[in-house]
Amino acid sequence: MSQAFFLPTRVFSGDDCVKTHAAALWGLGTKALIVTGRNSARATGAGADVEAALRSLGRPFVVYDAVPPNPGLKEVREAAALARSQNVDFIVGIGGGSPLDAAKAVALLTVNDLDDDAVYSPPYSRPPLPLAAVPTTAGTGSEVTPYAILTNDKLRSKSNLSHEGLFPRLAFLDARYTQSLPRTVTVNTALDALSHLVEGYLAVRATPLSRSLALQGLALLGPGLRALAADPGLPSPTLRETLLLASTTAGMVIAHTGTTAGHALGYSLTYFRGIDHGRANALTMTEYLAYLRPTQAALVDRVLAALPVDGISGLKSLLDSLLGTKERLTEAEIETYSGIAVKARNMANTLVPPTQADLAALYRKSFESP
Ligand code: NAP
Ligand code: FE
Repeated sequence: MSQAFFLPTRVFSGDDCVKTHAAALWGLGTKALIVTGRNSARATGAGADVEAALRSLGRPFVVYDAVPPNPGLKEVREAAALARSQNVDFIVGIGGGSPLDAAKAVALLTVNDLDDDAVYSPPYSRPPLPLAAVPTTAGTGSEVTPYAILTNDKLRSKSNLSHEGLFPRLAFLDARYTQSLPRTVTVNTALDALSHLVEGYLAVRATPLSRSLALQGLALLGPGLRALAADPGLPSPTLRETLLLASTTAGMVIAHTGTTAGHALGYSLTYFRGIDHGRANALTMTEYLAYLRPTQAALVDRVLAALPVDGISGLKSLLDSLLGTKERLTEAEIETYSGIAVKARNMANTLVPPTQADLAALYRKSFESP
């Protein structure tokens, strides 16, 4: 069995890790661009901590704080222009997956002049600028992946910018930054982490090493999801830590395996219906597993046992209690979305590559029609 494992991100975790390990930022460069969303850096205190760390090192910085959820190239180009005009030589991303992914694309576009198609087609003439990542959600694992997922209006979907140079050099995991997350974002991001563990375990590109990590992540996340389902309030600091650790573990898994049809099914739900990314993936998850199980029973059952849940129906009841009332899809929507999903690159990474008819059936079984 040949396998390759590469994870060049230095991960620090724990309360105050930005302050404690500020010196690690020293080697990244001489002037930083902080890339973040409209509120999260300020609301969580992560922005103030990063700015204090940079000041303590005598490193000047500028801030771009207009990354929206599900960013596209427009915001990335704006921030890259700022970085160029300010002679920035490293990037710090702060926020959920949206600002972190935008920060990665900024790191690439600051030093490469690429048109919209060339952005997604490595090789690039220059490696992206060094990057540090400070997550404020617990779900995408972007702080340890080489991916930036951007909204692509031309394809009416999401596109995956993937390059080894996009692995953050540093990741700072301070679960206190996730404490201010509202319940809905907490649940939806946890479901994204779940989808990474489930899809990563079942990916064509999975290896024994990535599967060990996925099982570890599932064992952490299963009890976390049950605790979220049992208590409609906000999670305790300990549960926040567990969710963040599970999310980063899940990121380490997909850094190696990529995602599968589950994510491809979710992209249209986000693009056309504005459904949060993690929720979008979870809405079709049980039907996706039911689709794979006839030929992949041992692998599917291993995933379910790691959480643990009592079979696919056990997973369904857990997810139903977290998802609440489900959206509805029309036949016309199902036709459009399955036509887009079948062209996604993730299909080739799915153990049983679905046809468009299979994908339409998965949507149909997962949603009631209006
Ligand atoms: P997000 O879009 O980054 O954030 C969702 C919302 O939560 C935003 O309004 C954000 O505010 C707010 N928020 C963030 N942290 C907060 C905090 N601590 N307290 C209060 N509010 C907070 O959501 P996400 O689910 O983390 O990221 C989703 C994106 O990541 C999608 O584009 C998805 O495709 C991508 N993704 C990437 C990977 C990868 O490997 N790179 C993997 C999976 C998904 P602000 O407006 O201030 O930001
Ligand atoms: Fe995801």
